[in-house]
Amino acid sequence: MMKKSFWAGALIIMLLLFLAPSLAQAALVHRVAPGESLYSIAKDRGIGMEKILEKNDLINPHQLYPGQVLIIPREEKTYIVQPGDTLFKISTHLQIPLRELARANNINNWNLIYVGQPLVLPPLGSTPGLQPPPPETSYEYTLSQLVRMFPETFFLRGSFHTRTLALTFDDGPDGRYTPQVLDVLKEYQVPATFYLMGSRAERHPEVVKRIVEEGHVIGNHSWSHPDLRRLSKERLIEEILKTESILEKITGLKTALMRPPYGGVNKEILKTMKSLEYRVINWSVDSVDWRDREVDQILLNTLPDTNNGGILLFHSAGGEGQSMAATVEVLPELINTLRFMGYNFVTVDELLGIPPYK
Ligand code: ZN
Repeated sequence: MMKKSFWAGALIIMLLLFLAPSLAQAALVHRVAPGESLYSIAKDRGIGMEKILEKNDLINPHQLYPGQVLIIPREEKTYIVQPGDTLFKISTHLQIPLRELARANNINNWNLIYVGQPLVLPPLGSTPGLQPPPPETSYEYTLSQLVRMFPETFFLRGSFHTRTLALTFDDGPDGRYTPQVLDVLKEYQVPATFYLMGSRAERHPEVVKRIVEEGHVIGNHSWSHPDLRRLSKERLIEEILKTESILEKITGLKTALMRPPYGGVNKEILKTMKSLEYRVINWSVDSVDWRDREVDQILLNTLPDTNNGGILLFHSAGGEGQSMAATVEVLPELINTLRFMGYNFVTVDELLGIPPYK
């Protein structure tokens, strides 16, 4: 009897230890100090140099710059799939959102997990901001399938062959954060692409003018930021053309680049956009700056995913009362670090070799 309860207790403790999700992040930010080398950093952090090189796309590991950001990987916590587990059960148990768990493990089909499979446990995300997450509707086709179906219309990234990146900023203009983003871009001489909402452009025409005057490119981000997949064709066209017309009225430029709110597209939307002479541009690197309003987390979200031809997604304005201060704050460090890594910045049209305006 005694023995039985002992083992039951031990089992429960073991299970708890096993199931306890780690609150630690899978990586952390290191800012290179003067005199530091890859060797000294690896030694101080107690990690192999090759692990740091794996995580950071450095062109010359012997050349680090003071202030450069390195992403230092950490041991990731894993969970081994048990008999009877479903991804849903595991996600509920570990209190990790199903989508994040699936994404961290590159699982497309949530039914396809197997007993004994090690699952990487993603760090617990902070609470979502005011911008609602994308709706649960699944894509008719995957984004990469759509890129193959609409090679002239739909883009996620530029070429892998040039060390070039495009910074993009959605949801502006506003009177507060968009001007601050512009100040930083001006100081660092980085051209960027702004996907603007028509309704906000109407309220802040002077900011729209400033964006264009300072050498950036503007694109269409719809009038009122709906999920385009839920609109009729007529309403979709109205959202786009109304925005095109206000931006043309303010700047004299007729937009030819468009980014769907939440990146939500399908075959019908792309067909319609093509007929309106639009290129639809999503992204390859998501800063998740609207949710993770913290400099280090934005660096962790962006740097490891950045490679040649990358299109980086940021927001130059938030929801009502939402602070985008971290986005403004992270930009100098991010720009410097990416330049130290050998990247240069262009607007999206230049990255893709397509015209920015009609
Ligand atoms: Zn948006």
